[in-house]
Amino acid sequence: MLPIQILGAGVAGLSLARALRRRDLPSTVYEKAPALRDGGGALTLWSNGVKALEALGIDLVAAGRAVRLERAELWSEQGQRLAAIPVEEMNRRLGCPSVVVRRSDLMAALLEDTPSGDLRWSAAVEELCHTERGAALRFADGTEVEGAAVVGADGLHSFVRDRLFGAGGLRPTGQDIWMGYVPPDRNSPPPGVTVGVVGRGQRFWIANTGNGEVHWYAVVGPSRRAGVRDQADLARAFQAWPNGALRFIEDTPPEALKVVDITDRAPLQRWSIGSVTLLGNAAHPHTPDLGQGACQALESAVCLAESLATAPTVPEALGRYEALRVERANTVQRWSRLVSDTSMPEERARCALRDLSCRLAPPAQWLASLETLLVPGTPPWRALAPSGSLGVQ
Ligand SMILES: Cc1cc2nc3c(=O)[nH]c(=O)nc-3n(C[C@H](O)[C@H](O)[C@H](O)COP(=O)(O)OP(=O)(O)OC[C@H]3O[C@@H](n4cnc5c(N)ncnc54)[C@H](O)[C@@H]3O)c2cc1C
Repeated sequence: MLPIQILGAGVAGLSLARALRRRDLPSTVYEKAPALRDGGGALTLWSNGVKALEALGIDLVAAGRAVRLERAELWSEQGQRLAAIPVEEMNRRLGCPSVVVRRSDLMAALLEDTPSGDLRWSAAVEELCHTERGAALRFADGTEVEGAAVVGADGLHSFVRDRLFGAGGLRPTGQDIWMGYVPPDRNSPPPGVTVGVVGRGQRFWIANTGNGEVHWYAVVGPSRRAGVRDQADLARAFQAWPNGALRFIEDTPPEALKVVDITDRAPLQRWSIGSVTLLGNAAHPHTPDLGQGACQALESAVCLAESLATAPTVPEALGRYEALRVERANTVQRWSRLVSDTSMPEERARCALRDLSCRLAPPAQWLASLETLLVPGTPPWRALAPSGSLGVQ
């Protein structure tokens, strides 16, 4: 049988490769970068993402790679605590933790046990075509490979998405997200607690990953972005903020400071043509506001592997995958974008209203909203027990 050819060694591509291995389906991952990128900040993996990892045989907490998220706090720019969400209570109810993890630790866990021949670095794709037996790729060095299926797990600016559905649909938010990390001090949140601070046109997020690093994100909205060009500007923008924001920014060594602009893409109603499909950010890029981009990529990867392992043909497998995933991933993507567009207004009155409604919402209401997000209608992650059968013909 031809292998499944996967483009991109991010969370999506590596988790799909791992899920396929557990189904004894051959695959190869092609990554244009020469090696795994280090760093990349900290992620919250909510229980839906953790459940998908369980299906891949990965327990980040037991491996000492992540801490359980127990509480998420929300503060105002003026230093008032607006909410303390008892996440651990929800974790217990759902029977699965949510965790905070360094991106590089998640990637290391996904890479573990990958046979060296199943992953090719420095492989930049130049051409994609449909073939009688599936689909084929040509790389910059002239190499050609054919697969029973080609999966574009190649991120926001996906080559495969552009080839299947045309370029375009990019939707910049006008926001920049700055990130860095520092060693913890006595004012840092303890491991297992995240702190978000919302203000006028800006917000800040802090998480102690429990391994000697406190990670932070600072989001700067459209009207302030032009005035924040470097670390000194950023420090000025967050100077009077509570919870040590200024200290985090100032103490971050310049080489550990990164900035990216936040962009998503208009949702697609389908992700596949023939034997070619999309996965993760290539299919459903999320703004980071709900901490769901990687979680949804994990859900999609497990579902795609399950579909490929059980459907009689690749096109039928891709049809099943879309039927189970498109609506859910697009819904979460829309919610993320809505939060991105509305959570840090410029007008004082709207900020006051936001702060008041956050403060008045009881913990049970926060948990109920979170659970709506985390518990999908159709669980795609039936445990991927290793099986001898090759589902893909
Ligand atoms: C600041 C920030 C905070 C976030 N926080 C969270 C969070 O708390 N929780 C959460 O769940 N999500 C979070 N996310 C979202 C999450 O990081 C992404 O959704 C997830 O990493 C997407 O993974 P991916 O594999 O689909 O894409 P990517 O990580 O973009 O990987 C795509 C890979 O494909 C490779 N590639 C691209 N083009 C080609 C090509 N032509 N040929 C070969 N390889 C190619 C790239 O080099 C890359 O390695 C956050 C995102 C950001 C930016």
